[in-house]
Amino acid sequence: MQTGTTISEVRNAIGLARSAAKKIGCVPTMGALHAGHLSLIEKAARHSDFVVVTIFVNPTQFGPDEDYDSYPRTLENDLQLCERAGANFVFHPQNETIYSDNPQLKLCVGELARRWEGDSRPGHFDGVATIVAKLFNIVQPNVAMFGQKDYQQLAIIKALCRDLNFPIEIVGCPTIREEDGLALSSRNAYLSPSERKQATVLYRALCLAEKLIQDDQLSLKQIRQKMLEVLVSEPDVVPEYATIVDPDDLQMLEQRQQKMVALIAAKVGETRLIDNREIFQTTS
Ligand code: AMP
Repeated sequence: MQTGTTISEVRNAIGLARSAAKKIGCVPTMGALHAGHLSLIEKAARHSDFVVVTIFVNPTQFGPDEDYDSYPRTLENDLQLCERAGANFVFHPQNETIYSDNPQLKLCVGELARRWEGDSRPGHFDGVATIVAKLFNIVQPNVAMFGQKDYQQLAIIKALCRDLNFPIEIVGCPTIREEDGLALSSRNAYLSPSERKQATVLYRALCLAEKLIQDDQLSLKQIRQKMLEVLVSEPDVVPEYATIVDPDDLQMLEQRQQKMVALIAAKVGETRLIDNREIFQTTS
């Protein structure tokens, strides 16, 4: 496995791979890698011939009061994990390599970026779309992997490729969870032992939503209320939203449909966590 911090290093390596007719796969990450990230890298290795993992804690997607400075940075360990998972190149640039001193352009995502996560984190998805577009221009992959864990982000990356004509196949990958259901996240490292136990409530609320939808007794509004009730049953959990939306435009649903997604964001102590679950209506 090769590594590099400059754009010319990664472009040279990819140029060689491409001239050998290799299909290029890309897995953008912010590092502090866990089994969720590794599942994306392994999938990229199955879908392509040359896997580029990017590790970059992107400052423009963090709000002023968010955890940019304290975000876990574990590069040495990440490189070992990437190699074992089948990466061919890890691109881990410095800020100065990615952003000029006085950048004049950035992407601005439409209404898909304003609800849910976008409402709680203004500007977040503009930062995500801008960095992903820049990484796509640097790597020019044929295929790129993103986790369903960040459901709204995945929807926005698909819109980015469609609306700006990036000829890149976007593959959504299932959420990898701990045995007790907690979705793996680099931010789980912030949780105290007591918060870690309480954090499973996000998954429990999602499973309850699925069961209640399939039981077909309550309205979606009542089910949203039940999700909130479960979340607040844990003393250190403060929900931000718990909702059921259309999988394409992420608009809140009032009526059931065949495919739905339950989305949750909640603070567990000081740590903000998100999770989601696709739900299929099985009864008529
Ligand atoms: P991040 O490092 O948090 O920016 O995440 C990099 C990629 O890994 C994104 O596409 C995430 O959606 C994905 N990811 C994060 N956590 C998980 C997980 N538990 N299961 C699957 N994919 C994940």
